Amino acid sequence: MRSKKFFISGFTSISILLILALSRKTMAQANDTESYADIAKEITRTALAEGQAYRLLAELTSYGPRLSGSPQAAAAVEWSRQTMTKLGFDNVRLQEVMVPHWVRGPIEEAAIINSSTMGTTPLTVCALGGSIATPEMGVVAEVVEVKSFEELKALGKKAEGKIIFFNRPMDASKINAFEAYGGAVNQRGSGAIEAAKVGGVAALVRSMTTRLDDVPHTGSMGHQDGVPKIPAAAISTMDANLLSRIITQEKTVRVRLKLACQTLPDAPSANILGEITGADRPEEIIVVGGHLDSWDKGTGAHDDAAGCVQSLEVLRLLKALNLKPKRTIRAVMFINEENGLRGGIEYARRASESNAKHIAAIEADRGGFAPRGFSVEADSTRFARLANWAYLFKEIGADNIFRGGSGADISVLVRQGVPGIGLVPESHRYFDFHHSDNDVIAGVNERELNLGAAAMAILCYVIAQEGL
Ligand SMILES: [Zn+2]
Repeated sequence: MRSKKFFISGFTSISILLILALSRKTMAQANDTESYADIAKEITRTALAEGQAYRLLAELTSYGPRLSGSPQAAAAVEWSRQTMTKLGFDNVRLQEVMVPHWVRGPIEEAAIINSSTMGTTPLTVCALGGSIATPEMGVVAEVVEVKSFEELKALGKKAEGKIIFFNRPMDASKINAFEAYGGAVNQRGSGAIEAAKVGGVAALVRSMTTRLDDVPHTGSMGHQDGVPKIPAAAISTMDANLLSRIITQEKTVRVRLKLACQTLPDAPSANILGEITGADRPEEIIVVGGHLDSWDKGTGAHDDAAGCVQSLEVLRLLKALNLKPKRTIRAVMFINEENGLRGGIEYARRASESNAKHIAAIEADRGGFAPRGFSVEADSTRFARLANWAYLFKEIGADNIFRGGSGADISVLVRQGVPGIGLVPESHRYFDFHHSDNDVIAGVNERELNLGAAAMAILCYVIAQEGL
């Protein structure tokens, strides 16, 4: 018995020595870049098996669409505050800011074709954000179709008094869907201005999607000082094809367009902030965020409830794994990205005013799809550092780290010199949903959403430990 006991205690002492030696080794490795591979694996496993992002997405989208100034946006601000508090974030607070308040209006929007052969045919239509209303009875005018502003200018007098129909599709030959969007979106943003300059009375714009569907996709449009404001609306891609076909078949096609939207006085709203306070250098901040507001179609599930809940999940994951970042990681739910960027501007203004030290700003605003990498705006030294960490994202297929735009909400910070990083997911399906009734939680895949959160959590943690 005795000898056995001795043996056991001897064994125990050796084990303790061994464990001590091993844990010393682990501690040493924690300071060296290689050990991040294990942490990355652990973050990914936890995100996939025990992720909360989808549950949070269901909660957030349950309020409905969250257009700036709406009661739903206000409810989402309060939800964010409560959720950050429940998740145990530090320094949860609101950053108040006034936001634009545009409303679609009480009456049903309509665009009805009147042609000699087809009679009256309704089009699926929705006002572009920022548009003015039509008179109560609508605008009735002949429609002319153009594919470009040059073609519009060339029409000269023929455009006067007409409804201008912008029908240049997104270029499907582009591999990156955002590039295709970039090549077409000026029709939505400035179509009404260009149409008004040549005497057009309204603008109809082919929806910004490569998908053939029967829902209109809204989005912001601009006005220009000195140019009359005219109403502008999106029609679905199927109806854009239909209208175009009727125009080629008949000499004159008239459309009645009826919109009731209006811009109300600015409304109070807020960004919502919550943190994990840095253990060693709390004053150095890494921002991770998305925008809380959405358009008033669908429930803004991909755009950008996904980016918001992924940002919340970043902090939750690090806390769940008991990882203690050296620097502060701050989740920010920005308000009003879609039609004003007031939240992003206010955040940067206060950061500059208080001399806050931002090490990096990371934004997720390209949909909750499988992550493929990060798009970086930073000097070459910092870019090289980030690129060196690509191996940490290889396992989840998100190791493409390249130079490119980061995100709208953090763009003002980036102009102040803060390195900006955008989460880049698969782009092919984003515009199937974007700014339309299609953008609901059913279109978001839980595993892909979780992987995006994992990718950002890994990145935030490494930057928090190593600096940038
Ligand atoms: Zn967005």
